[in-house]
Amino acid sequence: MPAYDDLMAFQRITEALSAVAGRTGWDQETVMPRGSAPQRAEEMAALEEVLHARRTDPRLGDWLREAHAADEVADANLRELRRSYERNQKVPARLAAEIARVTSLAQGQWAEARASEDAAAFRPVLAEVVRLRREEAAHLGGNGDPYDALMQDYEPGGSAAEMAAMFDAMRPRLVALRERALAGEPAPKLSGHFPKDDQLALAAEIAEAFGYDFQRGRIDLAVHPFSSGSGIDVRITTRVDESDPFNCLYSTIHEVGHACYEQGVVADHLLTPIGRGVSMGVHESQSRSYENQMGRSEAFCHWLYGRMRDRFGDIGVASERDFYRAVNAVHHGYIRTEADELQYNLHVMLRFDLERALIRGALEVDDLEGAWNDRFQADFGVSVDKPSNGFMQDVHWSVGLMGYFPTYSLGNLYAGCLMAGVRRDVPDLDAALAKGDPSAATGWLNTQLQQYGALRSPVETIRHATGEAPSAEPLLTYLEQKFGDLYP
Ligand code: ZN
Repeated sequence: MPAYDDLMAFQRITEALSAVAGRTGWDQETVMPRGSAPQRAEEMAALEEVLHARRTDPRLGDWLREAHAADEVADANLRELRRSYERNQKVPARLAAEIARVTSLAQGQWAEARASEDAAAFRPVLAEVVRLRREEAAHLGGNGDPYDALMQDYEPGGSAAEMAAMFDAMRPRLVALRERALAGEPAPKLSGHFPKDDQLALAAEIAEAFGYDFQRGRIDLAVHPFSSGSGIDVRITTRVDESDPFNCLYSTIHEVGHACYEQGVVADHLLTPIGRGVSMGVHESQSRSYENQMGRSEAFCHWLYGRMRDRFGDIGVASERDFYRAVNAVHHGYIRTEADELQYNLHVMLRFDLERALIRGALEVDDLEGAWNDRFQADFGVSVDKPSNGFMQDVHWSVGLMGYFPTYSLGNLYAGCLMAGVRRDVPDLDAALAKGDPSAATGWLNTQLQQYGALRSPVETIRHATGEAPSAEPLLTYLEQKFGDLYP
């Protein structure tokens, strides 16, 4: 057999085992009995050992040297396999094991220190994580910013300099828009009791309307909403707060966006390296298009207002317009995950600049809290009152996920580009959204982007879908129009 066929046959088993590991993780977060944890840890470790051996198998190097791509698909599969193989070759096994050990401990220490507002207890372990990630970046090499090396795991081809240039251009316009919104009339608030079963039934109805296929997926409850799996088994989770139905509904739409990308990849790519979303940024562009650009649009809110009154009766807001304003309320807040569409990007930019400085050695962990608080004051006009509202709010740094944050804003930026394309090609989209029907837009996203999986690089994926190079302008124009109208 030619080397390419041998390689793909070997990889198919790795992909299948990796899918099993993912589903085991899903099980752990959803339905696993509490008492099963110690056995599960051993099961997961065993699977990881098998996967690690396959990913570093010496035959991979031989096959990758000998394999030739006969077409575009083979070329893309080889590109994905080479990247992960070369990465594994560059990082010494000792360092990879040390990172796994320290970050799994650090996550627990972060959770404990955050609960007791004890920044001093968190600093030493975070300093250790930063030291290890700096060392890893040095092994991964490259001749620019060491942050670039870490970003490749989440956004292949991305660079810190490009990201910084985009963010620096966005920041003043977002700060100005934010000040305008906060000076305006506060948005109305929902009131009432929203029973769990009704929320879940409505969430399932909306998930189906957005194209989530329940024949190849399911929704369960978990502490943190997530999407898991690819191909023909893609599951999502949601959560319910009986006083805040938006929590369940919008996190469901968000995860449906991620899941539809995975479910939408053509069957030919199933269990191959390109049979999944190409990057975190492109993935997030799908979830943000579904959740924000469509789910929080005025047209869709009109439909949702009617459905919510059917199901919950009086919800405390008097008109469709007030409901739309409630969905898109801009208010002061410290927490990224609770931020509105407008301020969210400012939260991300703050983290990007700080973690980039940490990895480069321009900032030390001892000075991180001060740097965070100064920047928060500058961008949000408020001083941080406690570490859990400040630099200790997110899990990411404790688990070593430096380089991940910018993909959230990149997702918003790409969503801006994609939805500008949708609006160009589907001019009557709002009329359909007002009937609770996003299918013309989700169909466009599937045809133009989702079906290809990781066939093209992230930037080429967006360019192929829209016909243009990605830029921040469509997102900024969209936000200025939307929030300019909401906060005149
Ligand atoms: Zn997401």
